[in-house]
Parts: sequence; structure tokens; C-alpha cells
Amino acid sequence: MSDSHSTQSFETVAIHAGNTADPLTGAVVPPIYQVSTYKQDGVGGLRGGYEYSRSANPTRTALEENLAALEGGRRGLAFASGLAAEDCLLRTILSPGDHLVIPDDAYGGTFRLFAKVARRWGVEFSVADTSDMASVRAALTPQTKAIWVETPSNPLLGITDIAAVADVARDAGARLVVDNTFASPYLQQPLALGADVVVHSLTKYMGGHSDVVGGALVVSDPALGEELAFHQNAMGAVAGPFDAWLVLRGAKTLAVRMDRHSENAERVAEALARHRKVAQVYYPGLPEHPGHEIAAKQMRSFGGMVSFRVQGGEQAAIEVCNRAKVFTLGESLGGVESLIEHPARMTHASVAGSQLEVPADLIRLSVGIENIDDLLADLQQALG
Ligand SMILES: *Cc1c(COP(=O)(O)O)cnc(C)c1O
Repeated sequence: MSDSHSTQSFETVAIHAGNTADPLTGAVVPPIYQVSTYKQDGVGGLRGGYEYSRSANPTRTALEENLAALEGGRRGLAFASGLAAEDCLLRTILSPGDHLVIPDDAYGGTFRLFAKVARRWGVEFSVADTSDMASVRAALTPQTKAIWVETPSNPLLGITDIAAVADVARDAGARLVVDNTFASPYLQQPLALGADVVVHSLTKYMGGHSDVVGGALVVSDPALGEELAFHQNAMGAVAGPFDAWLVLRGAKTLAVRMDRHSENAERVAEALARHRKVAQVYYPGLPEHPGHEIAAKQMRSFGGMVSFRVQGGEQAAIEVCNRAKVFTLGESLGGVESLIEHPARMTHASVAGSQLEVPADLIRLSVGIENIDDLLADLQQALG
């Protein structure tokens, strides 16, 4: 599957991997196989290996092949949500008594899964600043089986050197998991840098149109791929055929969308950095960002997410969110439309009081692909 695309460029692979013409009709887009079960030609006589759609469905297979090819992996698995993918991963690679190292900045729902769910099943974790290898090493225990990294991180846009943390993981005999949601496979390829598992919320840039919730795991090791596929089927949180189809469609325009997201976000970050009501801007594309050099090394461009702190504290931040018009006030990210949100009260409410707590005056932008002048004008008026 992915091997046949290994010499092609990303844009070509994104459009063709998994998208073989339908053998029956020649349809150039894989049909939505809205079906639960498959006629067998005699007991056990499966056509193409399909028996029941929790185990496999052709539309989901098409997406899974596409995802594996885009990340340069051997196996892709599509789930009902990003968190369903993470849950499957945790229960596949960790057992009670195991330990994992998690980042001090991460998606709130990911932290909640570690803190409120996995811990009850006997999996412990330590929090580290994953941009600092000394901090990661200090968090290791003899039971550490995985190091979890988000880069760029949500919502503070921290950057972790994937190749460096892969070395730390290898020395520790732990697996490196990289949540590649913010970058997308177009901007960053963690498996090539030494990661063992790539995690995605397909809800974000992969889907790209704010119309589907989905998740994925991609791995290079076929044996680990088999173990994950076993757990995916055994636990059952799979992507439905229509959801898989929507993400597969989104993937075809990922490259052009990401180019525009990055371009627009760079302009937004520069404008915010000059604004007198803005106290701090978090964007890895800015030369003063502490992870700028590493981001420039491991990413094609810096992506569409920008966070910033405003003068005047939490109330001022909330007012800016409420005044925005082109930037829609809402959770999530990665769609063609620009979004604005207040992490402390919205996406990251679940990390309040933890080591992952975010500043109350922080605003997060998902910079869309609208005209940049309209976006800059909207931020000007919202900042007042
Ligand atoms: C949204 C998100 C998730 C969770 O994905 P869902 O599809 O919402 O379950 C995980 N990681 C990151 C970085 C995210 O932004």
C-alpha cells in the first residue's frame, strides 16, 4: 500500500493513496460502503477479507491506506475520534503498573484520559517539559513504557525536538508517541524522525472542514500495527464509513490548505506581536520563539495555530473572543474557517489546577484560509 507511493510527492500521495478506482464501476472516488456485513461465498469465503464492518470496511480501509502513506508508515488505523485512538493505543501498549511521561502542555482531553481514566487502571504518569531532554530524562522511571509528545503543543505552541526525544525513548526502552494533530503529516513526519506511533485527531486539519470527528494511529512496525488492529476490533471505537469518506476527501486538499494556513498564521502572528494590547505571542514561526530553530528543522512551515496573551487579564481576553466576527468563537481547530477561543474556560477547562493549567489571559486562534486582510481587520477591531 504505502510502498507503491514511496517515490511520489506528498500532494500526489494525498490524492491517490487508498483511492483505487472502484472495480465494479470505475468510480474515481471510493464509494461510501454504508454496510455492516458481507455475503460469504460459502462459510469463510470472504470477498477481499471483509466479514463485518467493525473489523474492516472498504471505505475505512481506503482512509487507513491513505493515512499510512501520508505519514510514511506501514499501518494506519482510523477511529471514531482522536481520543478513541489514544485510548486504544494506551490499552495496547501499557498495562497496570506501567508508567508514561507526558508533556506539560497538551490537549486537555488527552490529559483527562491519562489523569482520570488510565490512572484508575493502574497506569501512572509524570509530567515533563518535553522541549528539554534533561526534564524528560528526569521523569523516567524503570516502569516507563512510553513518552508522549505533542509538537507543536496545544495551546502554548511549544516545540519538542522529535529526533532528540526519540533517542531518549530508545535509551529508556520506551516507545515514543507523537500527537501530530497540529502539524499534520504535510508539515511534519514524526515516524521518519524516530517516533514509534503517530496519533491524530482527524477532526482537525486532516478533515479540514469542521464537519467530522475522527482519530488515527499510524505506525511503522507491522507487529505493533497488528496488535493495535486487534485492540481496535476488540474494543470497537472505529470510524464509520461516511466519516472515513469525509476525511479521505479532506486529505486530498491538505497540502494546499496547510500552505495557506501557515501563510495566514505567520501574518497574524507578526501583526499580534506588534499590537500594543498584546502581551505575548506564541507562534513557532516567530524568530524569538524558543523552539523556532527546531521547528524550522523538523517542519515544512509553522502551521495555522497562534496563541497570545492580552493586556488586562482574563476579562479582557474574554471580551476579545466575544467581539471577534470573522473568527468564529468556538472549540476545535484546523478547519478552513478561522476560530477563536479562550482555552482556560473552553478547550482546557479540564486541566485547571493541574501542572498543565493554562494562563487565564490566553487566547487561541485557529487561523483559517480566508483572505488575510479580512482576518487582520477582524483582530484589529476585536482587540479594540
Ligand atoms: C482535538 C485533539 C485531540 C482529540 O481529538 P478528538 O477528535 O477531539 O477526540 C487530541 N490531540 C490534539 C492535539 C487535539 O487538538
